[in-house]
Amino acid sequence: MSRNAESTAFRSALEVIRAVEPRVADAIGAELTDQRESLKLIASENYASPATLLAMGNWFSDKYAEGTVGRRFYAGCQNVDTVEALAAEHARELFGAAHAYVQPHSGIDANLVAFWAVLADRVESPALKKAQVRQVNDLTEADWFALRRELGNQRMLGMSLDAGGHLTHGFRPNISGKMFDQRSYGTDPATGLIDYDRVAEAAREFKPLILVGGYSAYPRKVNFRILREIADSVGATFMVDMAHFAGLVAGKVFTGDFDPVPHAHIVTTTTHKSLRGPRGGMVLCQPELADQVDRGCPMVLGGPLPHVMAAKAVALAEARRPDFADYAQRIVDNAQALAEGLLRRGAKLVTGGTDNHLVLIDVSGYGLTGRQAEQALLDSGIVTNRNSVPQDPNGAWYTSGIRIGTPALTTRGLGTAEMDQTAELIHTVLTQTTAGANADGTASKAKYNLDPDLADKVARQATDLLAPHPLYPAIDLA
Ligand SMILES: *Cc1c(COP(=O)(O)O)cnc(C)c1O
Repeated sequence: MSRNAESTAFRSALEVIRAVEPRVADAIGAELTDQRESLKLIASENYASPATLLAMGNWFSDKYAEGTVGRRFYAGCQNVDTVEALAAEHARELFGAAHAYVQPHSGIDANLVAFWAVLADRVESPALKKAQVRQVNDLTEADWFALRRELGNQRMLGMSLDAGGHLTHGFRPNISGKMFDQRSYGTDPATGLIDYDRVAEAAREFKPLILVGGYSAYPRKVNFRILREIADSVGATFMVDMAHFAGLVAGKVFTGDFDPVPHAHIVTTTTHKSLRGPRGGMVLCQPELADQVDRGCPMVLGGPLPHVMAAKAVALAEARRPDFADYAQRIVDNAQALAEGLLRRGAKLVTGGTDNHLVLIDVSGYGLTGRQAEQALLDSGIVTNRNSVPQDPNGAWYTSGIRIGTPALTTRGLGTAEMDQTAELIHTVLTQTTAGANADGTASKAKYNLDPDLADKVARQATDLLAPHPLYPAIDLA
């Protein structure tokens, strides 16, 4: 395909939008400029391909398609069927999964689908069987009341937030925490690693219905075979949320014990993080959960987004190509180069390094909070996000960590030498930043001091690092 085609496609699209609301066209153009100019180290972000982006912007958005492929509640869904079936087929082949459900609109939604599929399978179905009825509408008022109480009285065991777990794994601010009685497992304070014996102990004591594996801020591999054994030993359903590292599974960097798909009963993911697809979610599962998973809409999801499912099919087709495995390996090589560069310069890293796509810097080593470090880096053209570290003394708002990840910069083509230079820029900013004071002289967790000239200098160096690796090189909006 000619490079010209991409430019023409996006330029024409903006022209059409500009005729209706020019400020939106301007914002879309400005966003491309911003993304091109920032050194993006946000571990959960990436850059989807032009083909993936274009698959989302069209009349598929106009179609209602409640139901599943071939079984819709609306007429005229044959083309939606085509793309949904394709996306599911690519997902099954890519991950070696028995079943794939590609309708979830996001990672949170995929988790909700999974939780309700497990509750339906483990709690609702046995209740229906016991009452000798086929569906919930046939239960007596008393049986229905008892079932609702039971659905709301189940247990979940997941990774603690400060060890890198996710809010949707049973924490109170999220609906999962209001649905489930939750307990969490952390990491060993000495090594920062998951202590599987402690997980097994917690499972034995707590007897969860669901054991959740997966994280958004843990820089190491997880042994899913061991977690499955733990789940089996207490009769729990084993769910893995691979939202962050799906790209490393797809690219066969995580195989064997570290590939969740053969070990988990049910796997959820986003499609827009390391997997590099459109913003969305997905559920993979064993055959026995497939029917319940397929009820995701209208159980917890709004109508499917056919345009996003089309883009998922495109992105998953891309991920099945051999060069995606190369990309996935480069993500990890880059994260390790970044970690080594930081360690060599004296940074303190949670677990002392990484074997996935992310690195967690404990910025207390620089005398800063995560909030101060995040802002100082942003002033210097480096986009990261603050994140708790295990047993964080500064809580979830200020934090003591900076999470950085390499999927986005790897997509742009930066390599290990540039990661070392990136480590130098980060280390320079963090060593030159000092914690600020409140008006009354007490230490502030938010204020900081950084010479603006130094910040400008680093920002220019960051731009220079990016210059040989233009983002969307084929797209010229001018
Ligand atoms: C990002 C993430 C999610 C949420 O994904 P959204 O698409 O933002 O809803 C869920 N779980 C984990 C582990 C994540 O990292």
